[in-house]
Amino acid sequence: MTHPLPNKAQSHWLEALEQIESDGLYKREREIITPQRVEIETQGGQHVLNFCANNYLGLADHPDLISAAKQALDDYGFGLASVRFICGTQTPHRQLEKTIADFLGQDDSILYAACFDANGGLFEPLLDDQDAIISDQLNHASIIDGIRLCKAERHRYANADMNALEDCLKATQKKRTRLIATDGVFSMDGTIAPLDEIAALAERYDALVMVDDCHATGFLGPHGKGSGEHHGVMDKIDIVTSTLGKAMGGGMGGFTAASSTVVDLLRQRSRPYLFSNSLAPALVAAAQAAFDLIQASGERRAKLQHNTEFFRQAMTDAGFDIKPGTHPIVPVMLYDAPLAQAMAQELLTEGIYVIGFFYPVVPKGEARIRTQISAAHTKAHLEQAVDAFTKVGKRLGVV
Ligand SMILES: *Cc1c(COP(=O)(O)O)cnc(C)c1O
Repeated sequence: MTHPLPNKAQSHWLEALEQIESDGLYKREREIITPQRVEIETQGGQHVLNFCANNYLGLADHPDLISAAKQALDDYGFGLASVRFICGTQTPHRQLEKTIADFLGQDDSILYAACFDANGGLFEPLLDDQDAIISDQLNHASIIDGIRLCKAERHRYANADMNALEDCLKATQKKRTRLIATDGVFSMDGTIAPLDEIAALAERYDALVMVDDCHATGFLGPHGKGSGEHHGVMDKIDIVTSTLGKAMGGGMGGFTAASSTVVDLLRQRSRPYLFSNSLAPALVAAAQAAFDLIQASGERRAKLQHNTEFFRQAMTDAGFDIKPGTHPIVPVMLYDAPLAQAMAQELLTEGIYVIGFFYPVVPKGEARIRTQISAAHTKAHLEQAVDAFTKVGKRLGVV
């Protein structure tokens, strides 16, 4: 610290920082000097293979998205300097909202600056103290925050535990509306929510289903329509929220897709929509190009699936403990926090960029390295990663 501390608050904040540091939880950001892609270069000049981006379809540096964004700068300018309802809605905004709604089989959709905002602004306009929200314990922070802003009665069930969910549904029978809220994919485990069972329970107990499909939109399911399509229950999902900041180009933006009644009410009442700037036209155009691209061809989706199967099998054959599943989030279980940290560090020096996750991001004793596969990885990239994992794993006594 170069500045003197003028008051008590400052020293309180400094203590908090020191606590974070001494708990070993201080996050340091590594600077990348290339575009986001599989082969990246970090500030120190190191060339590494990226295995920790949400760039599932490899669209983050795709020429079609970049040229769509450039064209939108020419046609629609840089920024809107307005919220949507004053003078911030351009033709591409409505076009993208319709594309998303059609893609997901919903009446309409509404864009936000991020999915964090979509979730933050979802619950409060729709539900009040006559209603109840039933939420999976492992739901994303933005769902938790969104629920906090809402007056509905709150219930939480253990991750993907259908008996616990049913108990919550039984306990809330007298409420006007019950909304089950779940991530479509749980991002630390790469597991897919059992939406078929959730939808069946919702039907039986006359509840609604909301799914946050950030780690699914664009690549999960036969046409990339997400976890609902994966489980064959797209028509049973009442509300979908998701992001444009992961598989769909990774720029930014989020959305909620639902019945026109829900979307209309959100446009009137959802605070992050009403009181925050309109999504920049370049972002909208690039996201539109991403939706057009994935609907024109399933090639990247197939490649991602193929890469994921190959990597999961090769890592298992190499003796690693992989959380089972089919999702391109592939957690390599190490259980011990310092080991996960050391292993990620050594992998980096071997040219493989991965991050260790440990408490409080995952439960105590469940430390891991979370790898994420992309359609942009080649077989050689995947083999290089497996080789590096094996080399470092042997050195650290993991395999
Ligand atoms: C990434 C993520 C978000 C936040 O999305 P942004 O568009 O980056 O704000 C919300 N929910 C889940 C489940 C996510 O994985």
